[in-house]
Amino acid sequence: MRRIYLDNNATTRVAPEVLEAMLPCYGEVFGNPSSVHGYGQEAKEVLDLAREQVAALLNSEPNEIVFTGGGTESDNLAIRGVMEAAPGTARHLVTSQIEHHAVIHTCQNLEKRGVEVTYLPVGRDGVVEPEQVARAVREDTRLISVMVANNETGTLQPVRRIGEIARERGVVFHSDAVQAAGKIPLDTAELGVDLLTISAHKFHGPKGVGALFVRKGTRLRPLFHGGGHERNRRAGTENVPQIVGLGRAAELAGKSMDRDGERIRELRDWFEQEVQHRIPEISVNGRADSRLCNTSNLRFAGAEAEGLIINLDLAGVACSTGSACSSGAIEPSHVLTAMGLSPAEAFECLRFSLSRDTSREDLARVLDLLPDLVARQREMSSPEKHAYSMIS
Ligand SMILES: *Cc1c(COP(=O)(O)O)cnc(C)c1O
Repeated sequence: MRRIYLDNNATTRVAPEVLEAMLPCYGEVFGNPSSVHGYGQEAKEVLDLAREQVAALLNSEPNEIVFTGGGTESDNLAIRGVMEAAPGTARHLVTSQIEHHAVIHTCQNLEKRGVEVTYLPVGRDGVVEPEQVARAVREDTRLISVMVANNETGTLQPVRRIGEIARERGVVFHSDAVQAAGKIPLDTAELGVDLLTISAHKFHGPKGVGALFVRKGTRLRPLFHGGGHERNRRAGTENVPQIVGLGRAAELAGKSMDRDGERIRELRDWFEQEVQHRIPEISVNGRADSRLCNTSNLRFAGAEAEGLIINLDLAGVACSTGSACSSGAIEPSHVLTAMGLSPAEAFECLRFSLSRDTSREDLARVLDLLPDLVARQREMSSPEKHAYSMIS
């Protein structure tokens, strides 16, 4: 059975060019970049190149890039690092209700340590209002953290405007750009961010490696203590092979983003139109005119998404819901419920996320499968309706 992967917001396949760049670092280039000898210098060279490649993708200086163990660590370092470096006791931070758990759970943990957090709501379209950010900022606000693009709906946030507000009010601004990196241009100067999170495995790089852009002069307390690696921001011998993969993935993304993005958007729009054409009662979650090119979050009213996912998987198609499993129970997506969907409605939503590996044939196959699967799921999810339709 041919398998079709439409869960690229969860992770992407490592590009062959990326793997090729990484392999020598598991062989001959094995030195410790901190060593003075030739082995160390070779490793330092490939590390420096990766830093330049990532800096180029973000339009930053190489020395503003800190390599980390992924998006989650970068988010933790940014939020915890800024709040713990802030002077004074009264401390407040502003974020939104639709952030990734790497941000929300970090903020919740800080609340236990006396930090006050404002979680801004979003409208039906899933967008944070800059005016609300401006109103939430207080005298003791140290940090604003709002993502560039949401991982569940793909909705783009008004980051540039929020950056202006942060600057006017003298507040540090962090943005989680994990989903945006490699899909839209990310210019740290233009966005007005002080800190920006990216993760390699969301743009065809390896898992377990990411970066945090830290604008020169931003005060940040490190999470780990040890050597002076990464300009004292992140102690520990650098994960050279993974970082080299991140760098190469960043370079590839920068080169092919425009071309791939256009093609992916066309496919996504076509897919969405066809789903709506072939199946009744479909709604699209998120603001249609301001979305990542690859993400389609659809609600199949009356059909439980978990059942659909299992049947799609049996047919070789991988996609996902935004629901999270916490303490054994499945919770509805916090993003969709923040957008005003009821828990029951949130359980009817599926996310299809495309990549440059997605073909029209892949989507055509899904379009062939979906109408029957949805009809069956709707019958199962609503036995009364089924009984009624049998009688009538
Ligand atoms: C995947 C993701 C993360 C976490 O990144 P990891 O590298 O998997 O830790 C953080 N934020 C967003 C928006 C994501 O999509």
